Amino acid sequence: MSAEAGRGFQLYRRGELQYLQAPLLERSGLAVHAFSTRRGGCSEGVLATLNTAFHTGDEYERVWENRRRFLEPWGFRPEDVVAAIQVHGVGIREAGAADRGRGAAPRSFLGEGDALITAVPGLPLTGYAADCLLLFLLAPDVPAVALAHAGWRGTRQNMAGRVVAALQQRYGAEPAAMLAVISPGICGRCYTVDGSVAGQFIEAGWEGRPYLWQAAGDAFHLDLAAINEAQLRRAGIREENLAPGGRWCTSCRPDLFYSYRREKGKTGRMMGFIALREVAAGEVSVS
Ligand SMILES: [Zn+2]
Repeated sequence: MSAEAGRGFQLYRRGELQYLQAPLLERSGLAVHAFSTRRGGCSEGVLATLNTAFHTGDEYERVWENRRRFLEPWGFRPEDVVAAIQVHGVGIREAGAADRGRGAAPRSFLGEGDALITAVPGLPLTGYAADCLLLFLLAPDVPAVALAHAGWRGTRQNMAGRVVAALQQRYGAEPAAMLAVISPGICGRCYTVDGSVAGQFIEAGWEGRPYLWQAAGDAFHLDLAAINEAQLRRAGIREENLAPGGRWCTSCRPDLFYSYRREKGKTGRMMGFIALREVAAGEVSVS
């Protein structure tokens, strides 16, 4: 395995549950995080088994139980979940201590937004995806964390760069110190877009491999992970602090992931979370 692959998401097992974590973030010791797979849950049919999103037509109790199973290893409960309504935009919301549980159930969301930031320890920021990317960021100098959702619309509007800027502006975080990890998502070979979407990326300067290249007819391959990676670098994330996506394709791996594109919309969602570690009583901070 290359050093680069060793920083990005790797698959772990805990009983029936399978999830991914990025050693780059784990090693920091400052944050806990994970990205779920579809394995180890209780949902059925096209949603089998670990669907984590309510808006998929799943039964409320099953989603709740799936979130419980996924979060339990890190000491979180479904009641703790912080989430905004993802609208494929570039809105960024800050979560404070009083926002614990905003988004745990439908209608309790922290408003609309596709990225969450916080400097409050023990608050699990969450995002939901089935092909789109989730970006996990840690600013160790604050410390603060962020979780962003980027499909083609968010990527086209530089969500990656915007969330780095938000951590910088809100908390004084230094991009050169930040760690950034890109979740599994649909790969450039599986993901095609039409000429009008491709045109918007060409206009923004993303023409050619590994970002955007011609498929058949009016179709173009679009590699969201490659573009987000480049955007994070441009925003000041250092190479050794960046774990690229692209290793895990949600469409190529039906055994592990839901894929909106592959299943033509009738599918579940994976969930990602990141939280600043709470320093336990008696734990001495060495700096
Ligand atoms: Zn693929």
